[in-house]
Amino acid sequence: MPRPIEALIHPDALAHNLARARAAAGGARVWAVVKANAYGHGIERVYEPLRQADGFALLDLAEAERVRALGWRGPVLLLEGCFEPRDLELCSRLNLWHTVHDEAQIDWLSRHKTDTPQRVFLKLNSGMNRLGFAPQSFRTAYARLAALPQVDEVSLMTHFADADGASGVAAQLAVFEQACAGLAGERSLANSAAVLRHAPAAAADWVRPGIMVYGSAPDHPQHTAAHWRLQPAMTLRTRLIGVQQLEPGDTVGYGRTFVAQQRLRIGVAACGYGDGYPRHAPSGTPVLVDGVRTRMVGRVSMDMITVDLDALPHAGVGSEVTLWGRGPHASVLGIDEVAQAAQTVGYELMCALAPRVPTRTA
Ligand SMILES: *Cc1c(COP(=O)(O)O)cnc(C)c1O
Repeated sequence: MPRPIEALIHPDALAHNLARARAAAGGARVWAVVKANAYGHGIERVYEPLRQADGFALLDLAEAERVRALGWRGPVLLLEGCFEPRDLELCSRLNLWHTVHDEAQIDWLSRHKTDTPQRVFLKLNSGMNRLGFAPQSFRTAYARLAALPQVDEVSLMTHFADADGASGVAAQLAVFEQACAGLAGERSLANSAAVLRHAPAAAADWVRPGIMVYGSAPDHPQHTAAHWRLQPAMTLRTRLIGVQQLEPGDTVGYGRTFVAQQRLRIGVAACGYGDGYPRHAPSGTPVLVDGVRTRMVGRVSMDMITVDLDALPHAGVGSEVTLWGRGPHASVLGIDEVAQAAQTVGYELMCALAPRVPTRTA
């Protein structure tokens, strides 16, 4: 028998969440963001359920090739644009739209030999201070691009720093509107948090939802995935492979960090940080056993975690353990709750799913 851990990807949830993004975005067209191998879900697995999107956005050229290899003829956007001049050849060959965020990328374009002009998304740094032209150099960049024979259409984009937080998008929206005033071109600003919290003001022509498509709330814990009516697209599950009876004073696992205060039955589940479960998850992190909520105890090791079976007298070797996602009997454990306990975000847990975990479409 193989080790019992597996990840399930739920096509129905992906399609549902994408439809939620579309509804929240009003009339805007929707990029399904599938960078980082579709946030760990696998581009090939999410492709069918996300085909209702208007385009796929990602940043790795190899991933763009995979989307084209699946037969997608619609728009594909490189969110960070080209990394070196020869990337433009792939853009021409595969008809990729690409982001332009600095002068060098314009220089490369001006020297690129092509018969078919390309569509580019000119990126404004409206306050995130990662990529993009400063407002004072934005119009010059726009004019340079628009004058190039290699360029077909210039669109305008920016990215929000705090669409999920208290400061919101108003300041960046104002910077964007001022920088773009009077410029022709479609506009794209909104990530998941902006789609859910700041549409229609921030929706513009194209929205770029990522995390919400995978069923995680961008603004957890202020709002849960259930609040936004999102469904988990990934389940990580395994089984108990051992049971221990602890006496008061007994400890569990490395470092003896958990000490039993009374007699306690614990289960040993076949999942650890080698599978992508967060090593920093502390005692108390929620977990489902046979669909019943309980807690992790002790340290996460590479291949195992230990869970409290106090409320589960019938659980034993072979019992199903849900680390996140859908459990038996219609139970659900949100990935955001596990992430919060481990002081991280759902994004990181999804992306960290280890290659050794067998994954299949549910
Ligand atoms: C990743 C990314 C997104 C999607 O962000 P989510 O928070 O996952 O919705 C949108 N735009 C850009 C430029 C990105 O890099």
